[in-house]
Amino acid sequence: MASYDVIIIGSGPGGYVGAIRCAQLGLKTAVVEGRETLGGTCLNIGCIPSKALLHSTELLHETEHNFEKMGLKVGAPKVDWKQMQAYKDDVIGQNTKGVEFLFKKNKIDWLKGWGSIPEAGKVKVGDEVHEAKHIVVASGSEPSALPGIEVDEKIVVTSEGALALGKIPKTMVVIGAGVIGLELGSVYARLGTKVTVVEYMETITPGMDAEVQRQFQKILKKQGLEFILGAAVQGVETAKSKAKVSYKLKKDDSEAVLDADVVLVSTGRKPYTDGLGLDALGVKVSERGQIEVDGHYRTNVEGVYAIGDCIAGPMLAHKAEDEGIAVAEGIAGQHPHVNYDVIPGVIYTHPEVASVGKTEAELKEAGHAYRKGSFQFMGNGRARANFAADGFVKILADKETDRILGAHIIGPMAGDLIHEICVAMEFGAAAEDLARTCHAHPTYSEAVREAALAASGMGAIHA
Ligand code: FAD
Repeated sequence: MASYDVIIIGSGPGGYVGAIRCAQLGLKTAVVEGRETLGGTCLNIGCIPSKALLHSTELLHETEHNFEKMGLKVGAPKVDWKQMQAYKDDVIGQNTKGVEFLFKKNKIDWLKGWGSIPEAGKVKVGDEVHEAKHIVVASGSEPSALPGIEVDEKIVVTSEGALALGKIPKTMVVIGAGVIGLELGSVYARLGTKVTVVEYMETITPGMDAEVQRQFQKILKKQGLEFILGAAVQGVETAKSKAKVSYKLKKDDSEAVLDADVVLVSTGRKPYTDGLGLDALGVKVSERGQIEVDGHYRTNVEGVYAIGDCIAGPMLAHKAEDEGIAVAEGIAGQHPHVNYDVIPGVIYTHPEVASVGKTEAELKEAGHAYRKGSFQFMGNGRARANFAADGFVKILADKETDRILGAHIIGPMAGDLIHEICVAMEFGAAAEDLARTCHAHPTYSEAVREAALAASGMGAIHA
């Protein structure tokens, strides 16, 4: 039996980042992880592998569509799927080994195996029971199932199976037009798969800015993805190596069936807390399965905390990381703060989609008077040179004070561009502050400045 200041259960972005911060603050720390490798969903079967496949297929698309226009003659590119998978696995390996290295560097123990909490202050891993003054649950999430649909991870897959298919399917039905479905759907569409996305709501990416939704759907359609919106999937049947997806349109109750080699079920994720013994311990869990915590990530059981995907809030790696840092600093007696109003969300399609803060719909509903400034990438010289002129930047600012309330970007590098707006919001900046900041030319960032010029009422220059 070993004794620690902190034991964290789960080594995803919440758990491993929290552990490093604990160690930096002088706390004796261990992490329990049941997987073969560290890094959680994000590094093993989430953010990182999906981005590797998005990167390689985006370059394929670029080669096929834009190379000749720029005078680059390389012949028709060929896809070696096995090698693409090997590249993806190599990227995963480098990242998970990187976390292992950081654990060693920070003297964090990896307790290998699945952990449970038999009582406050104790964590059981296999036959061993370890002691800890503080226990942090960072056990993450898993795909939520659709009733009546059986996942075999070969024909009917979750994102995990979709990242590791044996071959590129000719046809794919994606159930759910959220972030994961659209990212993986666009990977396969670029590889030549006929992708049809079936979504229950009337729009893709529910909850997102409406103008972004419309333009995003148009762009994805141009890339070959088909959409069936307002459709309730009734069931999925598999026979040999094929599947049939039946759905009912909400507007007229008409029913139809789609054939597919692969069906990707991407209808959201739910907290994963199996086997931790939370029930017996008396830890309060909401109806949605999220561990309930206070503003300091404390559960109702003293000495037990929870962070990341297994608590409320957006299921994002950077949100989990920030909570990991905050819980560590709180345990060490500091007074950390996570600003949930400034957590960016990014979709890594081509072009990327990024947002932070309020949408127009939210501001209207709250009766908050705002000004909006938009700028199309068509007016940005760099974007035109790079065949990346689809999309726009939209900044929303308080009508009276000009303080930035939200931003929505669809366009090149949107996932990076959003951060100057996040920093501005963190400092309580006005749109005029961004607009009066000199931006290098020619960069995509100039589009952000132009949108800020428009939002502040000064007027964009290149519009
Ligand atoms: P997780 O990363 O889920 O890690 C939890 C870990 O705990 C797991 O390794 C699990 O094995 C371990 N564990 C659970 N129970 C126990 C136990 N009892 N004992 C021992 N170990 C245990 N987010 C982004 O921000 N950007 C993206 O681009 C992005 N892309 C994604 C793409 C896909 C396909 C998926 C599925 C998710 C993506 N996400 C993305 C979401 C992101 O992966 C999660 O928000 C993030 O991993 C949550 O981190 P976490 O630390 O809470 O939990």
